[in-house]
Amino acid sequence: MSASDSPVSNDLFNRALKLIPGGVNSPVRAFRSVGGTPFFTQSAKGARLTTADGRELIDYVCTWGPAIHGHNHPAIREAVAEALERGTSFGTPNPYEVEMAELIVDMVPSVEKVRMVNSGTEATMSAIRLARGATGRDKIIKFAGCYHGHVDSLLVKAGSGALTLGNPDSAGIPASFAGETIVLPYNDLGALQLAFSEHPEKIAGVIIEPYPANCGLILPQTGYLEALRELCTRHGTVLIFDEVMTGFRIAPGGVQEKTGVTPDLTCLGKIIGGGLPVGAFGGRADLMDHLAPLGPVYQAGTLSGNPLAMAAGITALKLLREGDPYKRLESSAKQLAIALKLAAANLGVALQVPQAGSMFGLYFADKPVTNFDEALASRTELFKPLFQCALDLGVYLPPSAYEACFVSTAHTVNDIARTAEVLTSAIKQISES
Ligand code: PMP
Repeated sequence: MSASDSPVSNDLFNRALKLIPGGVNSPVRAFRSVGGTPFFTQSAKGARLTTADGRELIDYVCTWGPAIHGHNHPAIREAVAEALERGTSFGTPNPYEVEMAELIVDMVPSVEKVRMVNSGTEATMSAIRLARGATGRDKIIKFAGCYHGHVDSLLVKAGSGALTLGNPDSAGIPASFAGETIVLPYNDLGALQLAFSEHPEKIAGVIIEPYPANCGLILPQTGYLEALRELCTRHGTVLIFDEVMTGFRIAPGGVQEKTGVTPDLTCLGKIIGGGLPVGAFGGRADLMDHLAPLGPVYQAGTLSGNPLAMAAGITALKLLREGDPYKRLESSAKQLAIALKLAAANLGVALQVPQAGSMFGLYFADKPVTNFDEALASRTELFKPLFQCALDLGVYLPPSAYEACFVSTAHTVNDIARTAEVLTSAIKQISES
């Protein structure tokens, strides 16, 4: 999309640049790594965004994951409208919170009790505090390339925007905060065993994206998550699955349902809000009972359990439980992955397209990517022309080589077929340049 055909977006961006740092409220939206001016969205429906300049785009960002039912789903809109009639926030417990908790406990294997928060960041921040409070230990293990929101002690070798912008360690974080964080390579069992043996009885928790999806999409090698589970159990360490991205997307119960590996705590977000701001963390009841008001670990939120957000999220989860769209979602993502791989193979472009359920990633690399270093070594400079070509042809991919693409139930057979054509053209363009 050239600057000349987006005058409204360009004008909005120029105004925003004067008022909002970088013109955006979350960094990757600024299109820094793909170039050009970001478009502004006027409205969204189903699989499509309509830009402020009236262009329609088939969307594979899906508001960074939450829109698994597509944008502005009628049932979610109705549920929010109905809740709105009763008020926007009460500051007391409300019936929706109980229904939401029942749904999460029913759907996510590890969760016996759950606390609602307002974002994924709050969920991970609270989960690691709980792991520390419950064990009386300080150290946390995280994995290079995994992003857990912008929690101080977890913004170390993080993925997502921190990676896209090339400053994996944020300024403003005292070394002592990050000093309790041990960063290990994903898929490296030896490194994990060594960390546990070097810090006996010091590791409060291990936090992991079980399928890391903030540095592309990486899948666990056979037995890796099972071995991690076993090590945590043996060392009295709390295993935290950050399923903010994968929860309800890979399966109703996330990666833990798919793999049968059950963590002690789980962080959730995105889909559970149905497009409104929500996060949650939950897990074993004995651990969760360390939280205030029952226990000494403090955690709170003025708007936590907000009735509008709960109404949206409850509807989103019920649609998943009752509609069981997972086979169809996976088949759409698979079709796109196959089209991409075929185009790349035919044109001699080295491309990996890891896919799990309705998510897929893109790496310009000649063999499957198994960890963060390999993701960094891929030819990310080729993503920029791919992104721009797809956008010109009406397909919106995440504006960073390191973000996963999402398919929703609103993507029709025709949308997928058209996207496969567009991506094939984009690969062709790359191969010719
Ligand atoms: N954890 C994971 C795995 C995520 O992907 C994200 C956001 N992309 C977060 C945590 C943070 O969530 P939020 O942006 O809602 O704070």
